[in-house]
Amino acid sequence: MNLKISALEYVLEVQNGNISAEDYMASTIEHIRGIDDKLHAFLSINDDAINQAQQIDRKIKSGEKVGACFGMPISIKDNMCIKGSKTTCASKMLENFVAPYDATVIQKLRQHDATFVGKVNLDEFAMGLTTEFSAYGPSSNPWNAEYVPGGSSGGSAVSVSAFECVTSLGSDTGGSVRNPASFCSVVGYKPTYGLISRFGLISYANSIEQIGPITRTVKDSAFMLNIISGADPNDNTTIDNGNPDYLSGIESGIEGKRIGIIKEMVGEGTSSEVLSATKEAIFKLESLGATCEEVSMDMVKYSVAAYYTITATEAGSNLARYDNLRYGYEFPVEGYEFNSYITKARRKFGPEVTRRMIIGGFVPSAGQAGKYFLKALKVKSKLTREISEMFKKFDLLVAPTVPILPFKKGEKVDDPVALFQIDINTVTANLTGRPAVSVPFTISNGLPIGMQLIADSNQDKLLLRAAYALEQTVNLPEVPL
Ligand code: GLN
Repeated sequence: MNLKISALEYVLEVQNGNISAEDYMASTIEHIRGIDDKLHAFLSINDDAINQAQQIDRKIKSGEKVGACFGMPISIKDNMCIKGSKTTCASKMLENFVAPYDATVIQKLRQHDATFVGKVNLDEFAMGLTTEFSAYGPSSNPWNAEYVPGGSSGGSAVSVSAFECVTSLGSDTGGSVRNPASFCSVVGYKPTYGLISRFGLISYANSIEQIGPITRTVKDSAFMLNIISGADPNDNTTIDNGNPDYLSGIESGIEGKRIGIIKEMVGEGTSSEVLSATKEAIFKLESLGATCEEVSMDMVKYSVAAYYTITATEAGSNLARYDNLRYGYEFPVEGYEFNSYITKARRKFGPEVTRRMIIGGFVPSAGQAGKYFLKALKVKSKLTREISEMFKKFDLLVAPTVPILPFKKGEKVDDPVALFQIDINTVTANLTGRPAVSVPFTISNGLPIGMQLIADSNQDKLLLRAAYALEQTVNLPEVPL
């Protein structure tokens, strides 16, 4: 069985009866069992997946109407609720939490006959960018298992890159879809804020995060958006944009489009490999008929500080519910009074989550808010104004997704500030609500580099079109599994 096909190819193959959903799923699970000890993308595997795929085959045979996914194996980041399945957020705090309902994205995928092959690894509560902060151990980069796969949706990117599923869903608060996509040489798409419902996504920083697809091709991301986007009464931050078809017109190219190269995103911290890849990308975009011009966005240099101040504040409030009264785990309570009980219960969080909660309690507190939280909000508004100005002049912006190559596991895990800084190119899209995508661009020293394109709000179709055009200019080697 060829597990290397795209989602669109899978649909055609199953639809035409060349392969059965059941066989494909069985081969996928066998492959996972063979390789995942090394990669550790999965936190749990759906025991019923083969059976569910079989039901789809039955539907196809009996001529019933079948949903667009035709039983396609999809992996889901373990911070989205699938009814009846464990949803751990890669935290010991939710080790035994079984979701009582489906997230909206899960419901939509179900309606379209997707099969969930399993839940995949992440940094605890999606805080991090290497997957090393998972309470269940790190995932490995399929391109070189000694290296981090990026994060926080590391399991999603690994599973797509290593053919352990056809597509995956991740979540992106400050780059968590795009960063691992870049490190694993797959496509990661962060939509316009509000395009996809967050209902059933366990919140990290509600005001800026979005669920997004991680796929092998740009067209597959468009295919996924067609299924999972749309206004949702259960999430009043969703927008109604008339549900366009994201696949139509995707091949129309970017002739005549004006593209801004953000100077602050190719500055000092950018490695020479990433810099030369960026130059090559600009050359390719120009050869497609676009015009590129370097531009400056002053606020970008404050974006990481603002991002971590705002997200820690929201996380501090979101994570307050894990008090071991409503969610949690068993431990003997005798002799504890309330405060010491809560303190003890909350020690279950790992070091990074704890760090964020401490910062999140401090920066918005009375006496500190003016210095930190309110200032961060000002940076956010200024950055938003700045990017709005950019889109008066440009159709798209370009920058490398991550300023450096994937690095070895353990190399930066003890240096939070160095880790935070790696988000410099991704957080702007989140803070301003703009859509952004990472497209696999090149392989340097055996390690992937992704290129990021950013568009204005609700220009997701244009963004996909540009990403597709760029994708057509590259011819990458296969992942050496
Ligand atoms: N690295 C960022 C953080 O730790 C991004 C996380 C995300 O997008 N979920 O907050």
